[in-house]
Amino acid sequence: MTAQIIDGKAFAARVRAKVASHVSRLKDDHGITPGLAVVLVGEDPASQVYVRSKGKMTTEVGMESFEHRLDADTSQEELLALVDRLNNDPTVHGILVQLPLPDHLNSELVINSIDPAKDVDGFHISNVGLLGTGQKSMVPCTPLGSLMMLRDHLGSLSGLEAVVIGRSNIVGKPMAQLLLGDSCTVTICHSRTKDLQEVVRRADIVVAAVGRPEMVPGSWIKPGATVIDVGINRVPNGEKTRLVGDCEFDSCAEVAGAITPVPGGVGPMTIACLLANTVTACCRANDLPEPEGLTA
Ligand code: NDP
Repeated sequence: MTAQIIDGKAFAARVRAKVASHVSRLKDDHGITPGLAVVLVGEDPASQVYVRSKGKMTTEVGMESFEHRLDADTSQEELLALVDRLNNDPTVHGILVQLPLPDHLNSELVINSIDPAKDVDGFHISNVGLLGTGQKSMVPCTPLGSLMMLRDHLGSLSGLEAVVIGRSNIVGKPMAQLLLGDSCTVTICHSRTKDLQEVVRRADIVVAAVGRPEMVPGSWIKPGATVIDVGINRVPNGEKTRLVGDCEFDSCAEVAGAITPVPGGVGPMTIACLLANTVTACCRANDLPEPEGLTA
């Protein structure tokens, strides 16, 4: 079998187009422009690239982008004061504090100081609790994008065996909650899991979110399974480097029914879902109907 390649780039473009059309309706019919504030502390080069591209895509879909770049030695009090201002700013519907923060700042405290209704990353403890209890919440972007691709490819996920490899708060755990919400039978694996390959082999859906290059070979995959590869790993490639996922793409693609590539799979969906969450937050803040198909 040769797997169908799930094109995350094209899918993300469709999600952004949906967001853009909803933004334009909000402007035309209600005079509201959704706004996303991104806060970057310090000069981490990878974070700077992410923040730049988030800002560009935010304006491309017609939303307002507010960038706040703070010095690496910004104090906890200064950062909390900025979050407080953004919480109270009616033109800001989504707030994202770019992680990781410098070591002297308490990330948990900062994230939990964001108004949960504006927490478009879905990391606030209230949103984690709402998701865990099956209530309406802001859903973390990477798992949300993965869920959208699974639903699009498979239709109903009800009754399917899903195995999530990785139990982080930003990917593994919320992914498992979303799959459970769609009535999958879910197993979460991690570094202490015994006989990982046996567990993976029974899965109709495999979500790999580990951060270990090409850890999952095709021999672990059940024929016809759908493989969502969240991993982004940079490996040497001659004089340069290249990106690979947590799954060995070629061997997995021979066995799987469908697979997301790296790059071009889950990655592009993450920013698209951030924009989707912002428009959803804006609709909720204004008591307006939410766009369909952009939330869990
Ligand atoms: P974390 O490092 O926070 O979590 C990794 C998880 O993998 C942990 O739960 C860990 O288990 C588990 N793990 C490590 N080694 C093994 C092993 N040998 N067998 C089974 N499980 C193992 O990573 P993240 O969740 O933040 O990210 C995972 C990957 O996804 C990374 O490559 C990251 O770059 C990528 N990513 C991609 C995004 C995108 O937009 N596409 C967004 C976010 C992340 P334990 O808990 O026991 O230590």
